[in-house]
Amino acid sequence: MSTNRIIIVGAGVVGIATAAQLAEAGHKVTVIDRSGLAQETSKGNAAALAFSDIMPLASPKILRKAPKWLLDPLGPLTIRPSYLPRLAPWLWQFWKASLPARYQASIATQTALMRLAESEMMALVDRAGIAGMVRHDGSLELYESEAEFDAAASGWRQREQAGIAFEHVRGSRLAELQPGLSSRFVAGTFVPGWKTVSEPQAFAQALWAHAERNGAVFEKAEVAGLEHSEKGPLIRLADSTTHEADRIVICAGAWSTRLINPVTRLRIPLDTERGYNTTLPRDAFDLKRQLIFGNHGFVITPLETGLRVGGAVELGGLDLPPNYARSKSMLEKAATFLPGLKTGGGTEWMGFRPSIPDSLPVIGTLPEDPSILLAFGNGHLGLTQSAAMGRLVADLLSHRTPSIDISACRPDRF
Ligand SMILES: Cc1cc2nc3c(=O)[nH]c(=O)nc-3n(C[C@H](O)[C@H](O)[C@H](O)COP(=O)(O)OP(=O)(O)OC[C@H]3O[C@@H](n4cnc5c(N)ncnc54)[C@H](O)[C@@H]3O)c2cc1C
Repeated sequence: MSTNRIIIVGAGVVGIATAAQLAEAGHKVTVIDRSGLAQETSKGNAAALAFSDIMPLASPKILRKAPKWLLDPLGPLTIRPSYLPRLAPWLWQFWKASLPARYQASIATQTALMRLAESEMMALVDRAGIAGMVRHDGSLELYESEAEFDAAASGWRQREQAGIAFEHVRGSRLAELQPGLSSRFVAGTFVPGWKTVSEPQAFAQALWAHAERNGAVFEKAEVAGLEHSEKGPLIRLADSTTHEADRIVICAGAWSTRLINPVTRLRIPLDTERGYNTTLPRDAFDLKRQLIFGNHGFVITPLETGLRVGGAVELGGLDLPPNYARSKSMLEKAATFLPGLKTGGGTEWMGFRPSIPDSLPVIGTLPEDPSILLAFGNGHLGLTQSAAMGRLVADLLSHRTPSIDISACRPDRF
């Protein structure tokens, strides 16, 4: 195997897991990030290794729900009005991806990607010696009415076909899985194979420690641009210094197209779904596992460091200031769902999910320069899919045929 000098731009969980896989394979890996290791979106997410989450966001169901959701300015889905003109092309692609044929094709790709994600992540976790950071207590999705439960049925049938185990629960079984729930919940679905990590930032940094033990190096710097030279691709930093490499991998999350647009004719419709949460102290509630309030677009996760309440989608780009009223609104709802939840002493956060309208990531090379690889756009699932992204990048880099069909993730698919 030949050893490449590889620069990865972005030390979110996708860049870190990719660095870990490439360093293990013997490549000389440097990761560059302006803010540090897992300091952005990968810092504050909801910690789920959601391997059973094969249903794309772009779906007929979301098209039905969106109009109602959009009426509530602090609800599960909001569009910041000033951002709407810039968002229109993304929304158009989202609508097209939600039509039945495209939706079914996305489910097939997500299912394959999630199988790979699970095997790659669990193996990487073992090799990194951090199995103790993964919780195996499953998730519990909750329904407030029979109509909501019935509406979820088709999604569960799809998961059943994909071999995903789950149990619909009511009454005493529901109360056993999570004592102290409000009586407004009439039913739930328990997914035993769902996993969470003990704390997402600590988890990503522990994966980095493994990459570092295999020789990967971190540099804190802002990348200003990409260039081609006779010797190969190079990175220009904000201080005007340059770094040469054999290969460059772009894992810059929601900022990735800002880097590649100047050097490609591709116009990848990457945008961001901003998400909010509040992390409460550990004693805020005796939470047994991650709870999912699908109709309200948020979850509550038990972490080693606290209890994280949040989710929601705000389409507002990378530059508008956060609206933390969204975090507060979810916390207020959580207090009615879990009477007894102590809502004081929390820390609010907002992060930028890197989102492609068809809910699939981008994996492939730049048409103008095959030594530049793209690996971003995991939307709601970047933690879950990070090790798979690393494996697929390693395959592409070594000219191996990936173990799953990733043609639906091609950079030029739009
Ligand atoms: C509220 C919320 C809850 C979520 N819950 C989950 C969950 O439970 N499970 C799950 O799997 N996913 C979840 N996600 C999604 C997940 O967090 C993201 O998909 C994932 O963090 C994306 O990782 P990334 O490495 O692609 O991007 P990021 O973590 O955003 O990393 C990109 C990095 O690139 C760097 N960068 C960008 N531009 C430059 C530049 N020019 N120079 C240098 N560095 C640069 C940034 O500093 C950043 O560190 C959630 C997201 C949110 C917002």
